[in-house]
This record gives sequence, structure tokens and C-alpha cells, in this order.
Amino acid sequence: MKISVSFLEVQRLRGEPAKDYQARTSKAEPLYPGLRKFNSDRIEKCLDNQKEYLHFKNGICIFDVNYQRLDCLVTAKKIRESQMARTTVPAAEEILEKEFKCLDHGFVRLIDYMGSDESIVQAARVSYGHGTKKIRQDRGLIRYLLRHQHTTPFEMVEFKFHCKLPIFVARQWIRHRTANVNEYSLRYSKAINEFYLPEPETLRYQSETNRQGRGEVAVPGELQLQVLELLRKSTEQAWQDYQQMENSGIARELARINLPVSLYTEWYWKIDLNNLMHFLKLRLDEHAQFEIREYARIMAQIVQKVVPIAWEAFEDYVLCARTFSRLEIQLIQKALRLGEIQPDWHQLADDENLSQREIGEFMEKIGAD
Ligand SMILES: Cc1cc2nc3c(=O)[nH]c(=O)nc-3n(C[C@H](O)[C@H](O)[C@H](O)COP(=O)(O)OP(=O)(O)OC[C@H]3O[C@@H](n4cnc5c(N)ncnc54)[C@H](O)[C@@H]3O)c2cc1C
Repeated sequence: MKISVSFLEVQRLRGEPAKDYQARTSKAEPLYPGLRKFNSDRIEKCLDNQKEYLHFKNGICIFDVNYQRLDCLVTAKKIRESQMARTTVPAAEEILEKEFKCLDHGFVRLIDYMGSDESIVQAARVSYGHGTKKIRQDRGLIRYLLRHQHTTPFEMVEFKFHCKLPIFVARQWIRHRTANVNEYSLRYSKAINEFYLPEPETLRYQSETNRQGRGEVAVPGELQLQVLELLRKSTEQAWQDYQQMENSGIARELARINLPVSLYTEWYWKIDLNNLMHFLKLRLDEHAQFEIREYARIMAQIVQKVVPIAWEAFEDYVLCARTFSRLEIQLIQKALRLGEIQPDWHQLADDENLSQREIGEFMEKIGAD
């Protein structure tokens, strides 16, 4: 069994100083050749989820069951402590690398972040110092920027997430093109036997109003069981077939092609705050699928810790804000002119030539029945 971890990587994980890399690599140290040698260097080894995590002072090396290396993570927090004097947010430091569970086998972890509310303000002011402005002024500036869609200062803050998610969620997620992504490869590594199975109470009939989504009506218990059994059965069959092909030596890139989209995948996903807010606006919305909304909900809590002031502004001016069309504004103005306590919105909307669907959406926006 070979482990392909370079000497440099192990040194980095052990936290040895940079000058040492140079000295020792110049002696042409070989790659770590195998498990035995590697074992002697480990600080801690534990088995979890068919993966092995080798813990070092500064990070973790993750392997799959075949000792194929999955990842080599240098603990951002440790690096920051030892090497970098840069902006940190105490509330964010506390949750750094913490695994927030999502769905039945998934998670979201904040691996690293760059910047804070202060970075947004600094970029906006192109400032030479910090701490010279009062918090109230910073908050006012951030709110002004977001209100007027001066978005580039928000691009100064970056987030790097490690997510584990079903492939069908990943397919929706990947449509957001402004992130940097690196995904677990089923061509290179063996699939892991983890498939998403919905909670029974999340099963719903097709919605009658929204053709894309599930409705409100709960599915009776008997049908819930049937659906879950169907999902479980086909998943098991697909997994057995996959294993059979794997064992026969068929290439993994072929063996995987019939695996269902409920299979879990993992990726690193890095994005700036401006684009992340756009992602969250779309994926926290009730029109988004429940499963991706669950991920967005967790990420929203994380973002709130890193940039609390920007998050507050985002909630006020974007997430909970509504835009009105020209016709809708005319309609509101007409209602105000009439001065009625309970205007007949349907009649007014009809007069303004709004379609039935638009009338429904307008009523929803203003919270009228
Ligand atoms: C509820 C819901 C239902 C959906 N249903 C479907 C569906 O049925 N079928 C389907 O195919 N997709 C569907 N989508 C995906 C949707 O059409 C978008 O692809 C997805 O939401 C990403 O949005 P975006 O392009 O704004 O975001 P991002 O890719 O994150 O881009 C962010 C912003 O950057 C700019 N940008 C990025 N790339 C370009 C570019 N190449 N050119 C110009 N500007 C760019 C745009 O301003 C964009 O808004 C759905 C999305 C949601 C939220």
C-alpha cells in the first residue's frame, strides 16, 4: 500500500519551520513510501466513516480505505496563530473547521475565511488605517453600500467551505458559477456507501401551484413507507452492482455511471461574500428545493458570524426586501390616493392590467389576503 504524501506536506502538517523544508528537501528526501513509515510519524490515527484521519500538530491527512489520499488539510487556525497577523473574527474562529451536520450524512465546515466587516469598510474607504472610525459609522457605510448595490467592497471577504452533499444538491449548487470548486473524484477514488434518504415528514405530493416543487399536503404514513422502501431498494441494488464492477477491476469511471444522484459527494467551495450573498438569496428562498435550503441555512449562520454587520444589512435590504414593478407601484399609489383602509387590491390590480399570477405575487409581497 502506497501513500502519496510528499515530505513537504508532512513537514507542513507537523508545523516545522519553512527554512527546514529547504534544508531537508535539498537532500532529496523521498516521498513517504508506505504506511509503516507514515505510522511512525503520526500523532493520532482514527477510523471514521471508512476514512482515516491522521492528525498532526498543524492539520489532518485524510485517506480512503485503500490508503488513497483524499486530502491534506492544514489547520487554518493553527497557521494563523503561528505565522500570520491578519484580521480574525473571534466568533468565526470558534466555529472554524467545525462540522455542522446537514441532512442524513452531510455537513458544512468553514475551512477558512479572509476578511471581516472591517475589510468591507476599508475597501470602500480605501483606508490607510483601521479603528479610526466608530462602529456606528462602519455599520452606516456597509448598509449604504448594500442599499445602493455598491457590491465590490463585499468581494474583499472570502469564504472557503468543505461540504458533503448529495449529488442532486451539488447539481443545483454548481450552477453558481462564481465560486472555485474542487470535488471528490469517483474516477480516482472508490465511492462511499452513503446515500441520501429523506426524512419521512419531508415527503410531499407535487405542488399544484408551483410546478417545480413539493406542496404542503403531507403524505400518509403508508405511502411514506412505500416511497422510502423504493428509494432504499434501488440504492442498494445500484451499490451492489457498483461493488461487483469494482471487484472485477472495471475502471471506477465506468463502475460509477449508474450510481444514483442521492449518493454523497464532497467538495471544497470558495467564494467571495458578494457572490455568496447572491447564492444565499436564491437558495434560502422557499422556491429552492428543501435539501439545498438546508445547506444554505447552515451557511447563512456561518456567514453571520464572520460578517455580522454585512449580514444584518443583507437581511434588511436583500433577503427580506421585496421589489415592486412599475405597475405595482402605480397600484400602491392609486390605493394611497383613494385612502381606503382596506383597498380592494384585486380590483385595483385588474385595473392596472396585472395578470392573475402577478396579482397573487403582489398580494404575497404586501402580505394581503
Ligand atoms: C428556485 C430555482 C429554480 C431553478 N430552476 C432551474 C431549472 O429548472 N433549470 C435550470 O437550468 N436552472 C434552474 N435554476 C438555476 C438558475 O437558472 C441559475 O442558473 C442559478 O440560480 C445560478 O444563478 P446565477 O446565474 O444568477 O448565479 P451565478 O452563476 O452564481 O452568477 C452570479 C451572477 O454573476 C453574473 N454572471 C455569472 N456568470 C455570468 C455569465 N456567464 N454571463 C453574464 N453574467 C454572469 C450574473 O449576474 C449572475 O447573476 C434554478 C434556480 C433556482 C434558485
